[in-house]
Amino acid sequence: MKKTIAIDMDNVLVDIEQHFIDWYEKDFGVRIGKDKLIGIPEIEAFPNQEAVKQYLYTPGFFRSAPVMEGAIAAMDILLNKFDVYIVSAAMEFPQSLSEKVEWLNEYFPSIHWTNIVLCGDKSIIHCDYLIDDYIKNLDPFKGQPLLFSAGHNANHTHHKRLNNWNEVLNYFSSI
Ligand SMILES: [Mg+2]
Repeated sequence: MKKTIAIDMDNVLVDIEQHFIDWYEKDFGVRIGKDKLIGIPEIEAFPNQEAVKQYLYTPGFFRSAPVMEGAIAAMDILLNKFDVYIVSAAMEFPQSLSEKVEWLNEYFPSIHWTNIVLCGDKSIIHCDYLIDDYIKNLDPFKGQPLLFSAGHNANHTHHKRLNNWNEVLNYFSSI
């Protein structure tokens, strides 16, 4: 039987940090460097935090986010060897549900709808691996947690860290 991998969307498949930066620059004319997001909750890097919070409730925000570098090519390889599930705690932002499905259909059309899990609490997920940028999702996970690097998790050391999609492929090449 193939091993199962649960893969998060924001900050893993989706370069949501870049998207915050781009939208903020469009609205306020200030370009915040990615280095400013290191070690703090991403919203705190922006002078107008309320505006950034509102992006999460703005129609079109999730639909127009850029794909993470290397994710498409890596997914093609992983899909041959593993059962891959996309797992996003999207219920916090209900308007994102259809946008996330459309986004996946655009960038990852080979992922069947049966393998898309938009949920509330990821602790219900039972896969062999979980690739996620949030400690709160990785801590309760019963399989092998894998921390995908994002600015906000830079100081966490208690999970196996994968810095980018190349490192994900290297990790799984021996499995
Ligand atoms: Mg995430």
